[in-house]
Order: sequence, then C-alpha cells, then structure tokens
Amino acid sequence: MNQEHDYRSLFDNAVEGMYRTTPDGRYLAANLALARIYGYASVEEMMAGLTDIARLLYVDPGDRDRFRASLHGRNQVRNFVARVRRKDGSIIWISENARAELNRDGTVRWYEGFVEDVTDQVRAEERLRLAATVFDTAAEAIMVLDDQFRVTAVNPAYSAITGFAPEEVVGALPAFLQAGDPDPETPRVLLTTVQRAIDNAGRWTGEQWNRRKSGVRYAEHLSVVSIPGERGQSGRYLVVFSDVTQRVLDEERIRYQASYDQLTGLPNRALFMDLLTQTLSQAERGGEMVGLMFVDLDGFKLVNDSMGHDAGDQMLQEVAARLKRCVRASDTVARLGGDEFTVLMPNLGDFRHAPAVAERITERLQAPFLLNGKEAFVSASIGITTFPHDAGDAASLLKNADAAMYRAKEQGKQTFQFFTPEMNAEIEERLTLIHGLTKALERQEFTLFYQPKVRLADGGLSGVEALLRWRHPELGLIPSAKFIPIIEESGLISPISEWVLETACRQHKAWLEEGFDIRVSVNLSVRQLRQPGLAGTLAALLDRVGIAPSGLELEITETMLMKDTENALQTLAALDEMGIGLALDDFGTGYSSLAYLKRFPLQTIKIDRSFVADVASDPEDYEIVRTIISMGHSLRRRILAEGVETAEQLAVLRELRCDEVQGYLLSRPLPADALGRRLRERGLLPPGTLRAAAG
Ligand code: C2E
Ligand code: MG
Ligand code: MG
Repeated sequence: MNQEHDYRSLFDNAVEGMYRTTPDGRYLAANLALARIYGYASVEEMMAGLTDIARLLYVDPGDRDRFRASLHGRNQVRNFVARVRRKDGSIIWISENARAELNRDGTVRWYEGFVEDVTDQVRAEERLRLAATVFDTAAEAIMVLDDQFRVTAVNPAYSAITGFAPEEVVGALPAFLQAGDPDPETPRVLLTTVQRAIDNAGRWTGEQWNRRKSGVRYAEHLSVVSIPGERGQSGRYLVVFSDVTQRVLDEERIRYQASYDQLTGLPNRALFMDLLTQTLSQAERGGEMVGLMFVDLDGFKLVNDSMGHDAGDQMLQEVAARLKRCVRASDTVARLGGDEFTVLMPNLGDFRHAPAVAERITERLQAPFLLNGKEAFVSASIGITTFPHDAGDAASLLKNADAAMYRAKEQGKQTFQFFTPEMNAEIEERLTLIHGLTKALERQEFTLFYQPKVRLADGGLSGVEALLRWRHPELGLIPSAKFIPIIEESGLISPISEWVLETACRQHKAWLEEGFDIRVSVNLSVRQLRQPGLAGTLAALLDRVGIAPSGLELEITETMLMKDTENALQTLAALDEMGIGLALDDFGTGYSSLAYLKRFPLQTIKIDRSFVADVASDPEDYEIVRTIISMGHSLRRRILAEGVETAEQLAVLRELRCDEVQGYLLSRPLPADALGRRLRERGLLPPGTLRAAAG
C-alpha cells in the first residue's frame, strides 16, 4: 500500500508526461505533466477531450500507425518524434519513449510511455539546418570573423566571387580591411572606421572596388554586423557582400551618358550648365572673373551635307580635340550640340586675356581637316562674355555669349565679339595699337618727352624724366600710360626700351654740348631689371655715347622690387657701384614699407602722385606724405613729389620739407627742343612759379 502510494506520487509529480493507453487510443491513465504538455488544466479534462488519440492528437494521423508498427516489432520505441495538436490547436513537437504490455496470447494489453515536449530543440535544429543551407547556397558571399576580425569561415559564394578557397583566407584579415594595400586602385576601409561604425550602430555598410584572386577588379556591396559573444565567448563579426560590379558599371555608364557627349567625349549641355553654375558661385565667393566663350562653326553644314554625316562626325571630333589644345587645363571645353561648343575659363583674371584664346582657336581651326582622305575647312564665330560684368547667372551668361556669337557671324564670321560693346571697342583699339606698335619703332614714330624735376631749396633743375610718346600716324600723340602696358605684355618691350635708353643718353650728351648738365631719368621696365648683364649693357651704352654714369638715373617701381627681390638687389648694387642714379618710382602704391626698401641702394624716393593730388585737402594723404618724407629723411633718402599741379600742393610739400617736385605746375613733359629753348630763353620755370616755389 505504502509502496503503491510512492509509485502513485512518482507518477503524478513526474516532470515528464506519462500515460497508459489502449491499443485503439484511449487513455487508461495519464499524469498531470502530460496534460500540461498537451495544454489541458487537468488529467480529467484531457481524458474527456482526447478520446481518440490517433485522430485528435497526432497532426499526421499516419504517425499513430508508425508508432504502433514500431511497437509491434520490438515492443518498444525510443525517441519517437511527432507533431501533436494541443488543446488550443497549437502544434508542438513531442518525443516519446514507449513500450507495449502484452497479454499472454501476445495481443496488446496497453501501451505505456513517456512524453517530452521537444519543440524548442526541433526548432533550433531546424534553424541550424536552415542557416547551414543559407550559408552554403546564398548568392552573397559570407565571411565569419573572430573578434580580431580574422576570417574563421567563408561560404562557397565567397570563393565563387573572389576566387579564393577557404583555406587561403581563413586566419587572415579580409582584403577589404587591409589598409595600406599597395594597390592604389582598391581603396581600403580602415579597420578603425568599421570598428567605430559597429560600436555606434552595430553595423557597417559600404561599397567599394576590390580585386579577385585573378587580379580582375570587382565592386562589392558589404555589410558587417557584430554578433555579441554569449556565455563568456568572445564576439564575432559576420560579413556579407555581393558582387555589384555590373550595377556599378551600368551606373557609371549611365552617368557618363547623361553628362558627356557620345561623339566627342566632351561634357554635354547638362554637365556644362552644372559646371558653369558651380564655377560662378565659386568665383562670386572669391571675387574672380569668369570668361565664357560660345564657339559656333562656320560652314559646318556644308561639310556635313556634301561629304556625309560620317565625315561631319569626324570633323566634330577633330574640332573638339583642337579646342582642347587651345585652352588651359583648368578651362573646360563642352559641346552643347550640333556644331556649338563652349569654353569655360574659370580664372580669366582680365577680359583682355580672352581674345588671345579666341585667336588661338581661330588659328587652330584654320588648318585643313582630313576627312576620309579629303581635305575640308571650317572656321568659327566666337562670342565672349564675362562674369560678373555681363551677367550674374549661368543661363544669362550663356545667352549673352550666344548673342555675342551671332554678332560675330554678322561681322562676317571667323571672328570673335564680346557681349559688351565697350569691351569690343577696347579690344579693337588694343588690337589697332598692338598692330601699330609692331611697326612704330622702324617707322620712327616714338619720341621722348622730358619733364623737369625741381629742387625746392633753390628752385634749381635737378634733372628731367624721359617719358615715352608715340606719334601715331592717325591717332596722334599717345601718352605712355595707354600703350606701355601693351608693350610690356607683348615681346616688344626690349627693343623699345633700348631705344629709350640710348635716345635719353644721347639727349643728355646733346645738352651737355650746349652747356646744360641735366641728368636724365629713364623708367625701367620689369623685363629690363630682370635682364642678366643689365649693368654691362648700360656701361657699354654710356661708353658708346660718351657720358658719365652720373648723367643717368633709372626709375624703378616698388612692385618690380618685390617680385624678384634677391636678383633686383644684386642688379641695383651693380648699377649703384657704377655711379648710375637710382630712384624709387610711384612710392606708396605697392604697400611695401620704407624699412623694407632700406636694403636697396635708392637715393631718391618719388611719392606717387595719387597721394600728392590731395595732400592739401585730405588729412589722411597729408599724414601719409608727411610720414614718407620724415621717414625717408631719417633713412637719408631724397624725397620727390610727383604730379604737383597746384600752388597749394607745393606750399604743403615745402612745409613738409620735401626735397624735389615734379608736375604740371612746374612744367608738362616737353619735347627736347622745346625744353632746351625754354632753358636758353628764360631759365626753367614759368615766371612767378619760381618765386612761388622759392617763397
Ligand atoms: P611715371 O614714371 O610715374 O611717370 C609720370 C607720369 O605722370 C607721366 O605719365 C607724366 O606725364 C605724368 N605726370 C607728370 N606730371 C603730372 C601732373 O602734374 N599731373 C598728372 N596728372 N600727371 C602728371 P606718362 O608719360 O603717361 O607715363 C606713364 C607711365 O608710363 C610712367 O609713370 C612710367 O611708369 C611709364 N613710362 C613712361 N615712359 C616710359 C619708358 O620709356 N619706359 C618705361 N618702361 N616706362 C615708361
Ligand atoms: Mg617715372
Ligand atoms: Mg611715377
């Protein structure tokens, strides 16, 4: 009785479900654990519900037949796994161990067994199997990395994509993480970048080029996720990537096709407008000038119609190539369509630089085109606009360039036009001047005027400044300010400078012979100052003409000294050594300090006339002039004020103890004979002036 009670308790309280059933599937006995497994509150409820196990419990009724068949063979089954339906209809997996109790005649008396809910295990196994299948059959490459980012496993897709077998990569850092790879074409993600992304977001995704084992490049889309370690294990990383080479190449091609002209490879209208817009906003910020040229071919239609489209295409390609050779690397040539091209010049600097490019284009296009073995010709009409002068936005600028191009067509083609009439006028004048200047020397159209420099202390003449004048056959006398910058830019400056020096020296000599010892000052150009052996050339000239070095003074501007200081210093030292006078011209315009200029052997400093102009009316200019004079004196330099036009200016300069003056008040620049006549007739200064100067 007691023993039976113990068994009863064991049965009732067991964790595993236990049962005894009739062969046709009715419960004879069951414990609470079983009822719970099947979702019933009590054994009674279960027995009332599950009246036919085969039909009501097993999801697959055949399972009961299998179960019975197994039992009949060996009288027992182990780990019989089946799906069963719980009371609420949910389905779980169970595992049964059971045996059959037989009657004497061998028929089954009952079945009895243990039931365990193995749903969790089955599901876990299922998941594992699934994971393994995914790993093996995925189209994406999968890598498992340890906590040090070393590869612990790769799947077949990995090998298929990269060409590396698992044993070649296991234990290594994955290629995409290898920073410092010698192959510059496959940028590497830095380990720290990935690490940081994973720390912050739990994953890192990226796209980049990599190389297969064969060396062929491929694009990969990668994601790296971290799998935290469980139960003391260290974490791992899962890397999944796919080969997106085709997509990336397609995108590149589409982007290219959308931005570039198929025929010439030049940026198309869309890309050009983007570039133009960008360039303008940059230029606006930097305060720079942008040039835009609209280049339209003249006579292209004729070539296309008479020689065929194929020849026309060839010509456009060749035009594109020639245009590119006419511009700087920072400029952009684009094809808007048809025979229309544009040239974008982001750092034009000065609108006067554009014609040179336009002329180069015109010239390069003049050479014959060889199309299918036959020669053909085109020319171009070019419209030029500048930002910000002509327009403030990309569309208007292009419209203006187009309009200017039409004007070039109207002018008879094969020429260029600015959008702005004043620019056209100025460029035209410039071209006329350049053209005339090339002939001026041989036609003896140059002459020198001389402007006196006067000592304030005694009213005496301290020298004259030689100023170049050009007697243009139609335009008359042209002052140097108009044409000297043009000469300096072109290659004409050297022969003209030589002529000026020689003429000035000869004039000094001529005056000497008349009894006037007048030192002549000559303005030096940058090019002359840079010219090696300038001192030697001058020595030879002085010798040839037969005058002393002290009869000559050279005027040098501040900016010339600042550009090439060391060289200038040497040249000036040599000239000083020879005894040639040296003066600093236009002082105050170059923003350099007197202290800086102290190093140069310059005896005289000429205050720029812009300061002198307002010295009597503007306290600031007054202060500047005062400072230059007093500092100059402390450095033992003579100070000359240029551009003195009024008696007031003269009075102030005298008060400030300026040494010398030069300007219209005392005398305009005069031809040599006029100056000589004046010297002979009535001394240097107009009556009254001398007294004003002296008084
Ligand atoms: P600069 O050396 O400062 O010459 C003085 C300029 O001021 C001259 O102009 C002169 O005519 C002008 N000027 C003189 N007094 C007055 C005045 O009271 N009021 C005003 N408003 N102007 C006055 P120019 O002859 O047109 O020469 C301009 C510049 O061209 C010169 O400036 C000089 O830098 C350069 N230049 C002139 N001749 C030569 C030359 O033979 N060779 C070189 N390399 N440069 C020259
Ligand atoms: Mg001068
Ligand atoms: Mg000057």
